[in-house]
Amino acid sequence: MKAAVIHAPYDLRIEEREVPAVGPHEIKVRIRAGGICGSDLHYYLRGGFGTVRLQEPFIPGHEVAGEVMEVGAAVTRIRAGDHVAINPSRPCGHCHFCLSGLPTHCPDMYYHGSAMRMPHAQGLFREVLVCGEAQAVLLPPALALETAAFAEPLAVCLHAVHRAGSLLGKRVLVSGSGPIGALVILVARRAGAREIVATDIVDAPLVVARHIGADAAFNVASEPRALDRFKTDKGYFDAVFEASGSGAALASALEVTRPGGVIAQLGLGGGEMTVPMNLLVTKEIRLQGTFRFDQEFVWAVDYLAAGTIDVSPLLTEVVPLAEAVRAFDLAADRNRAMKVVLAI
Ligand code: ZN
Repeated sequence: MKAAVIHAPYDLRIEEREVPAVGPHEIKVRIRAGGICGSDLHYYLRGGFGTVRLQEPFIPGHEVAGEVMEVGAAVTRIRAGDHVAINPSRPCGHCHFCLSGLPTHCPDMYYHGSAMRMPHAQGLFREVLVCGEAQAVLLPPALALETAAFAEPLAVCLHAVHRAGSLLGKRVLVSGSGPIGALVILVARRAGAREIVATDIVDAPLVVARHIGADAAFNVASEPRALDRFKTDKGYFDAVFEASGSGAALASALEVTRPGGVIAQLGLGGGEMTVPMNLLVTKEIRLQGTFRFDQEFVWAVDYLAAGTIDVSPLLTEVVPLAEAVRAFDLAADRNRAMKVVLAI
């Protein structure tokens, strides 16, 4: 099979890889669609992020869907020919985190397309994947696979909103309007937010943000005082979703959040940032970290399948695997791209 392999920054190659045999509880999937994520771009552009660095050739990709080719003898839920979305997370299933309902904190988590562990957890921009039956979520045949490839980032955003708490009647700020911020806008709208304001430092994603349901969208680079109007009377927003990972954006979020509000932090940034603790403490703001997802992956598939969350305005282009370098370069250009999906 062919796979996209990153060897070093800007060194992405299509290479041959062996397809492993299918075990009794495993399935073999012909992957058809794979969304390029910000973390894939970090590996491609910079060889990693924070302390996570590529130490060996690495297949990126963790947002994929495909068609089942073959199933192991003990597989009961999935059949050859089924369409599936692949949940890239594989917790160990027997540690105390897994057994106490916190599998996302499993210290032995194998998350496809992550270089956090060594050897790296190889990713899914490949023609064929052999994985456990448990990682596959059945799709209705009518759901386009490039749409189903949004299940993973949508699950991240459903998890963030789930973590933040009810948004019914709330005023929401989405800080950073790339694919994750945009999906948060869609989820927040679905979750009953009263008003949604989006920010970014590039104009193009703000056009998308307005199109998909943000009531207002501001470029805080070209208009640095745009959020000042929300600082009066101790802040305006009940909930902020900080998806940029910028320390300045988090500091600004603390100024515009009402006392008792919540800031859900999705963006990792460089791993360290300074927090204006006086605002956090005196306004009794809840700063909620949110990372990946658990049960929300299945929810995401259902929202996509039902069409109740429409991600089509986010799909920039479907690019063949053979043109993976062009696809990555396009995905890295925020003036041109929201979500680029590889046709594998
Ligand atoms: Zn575990």
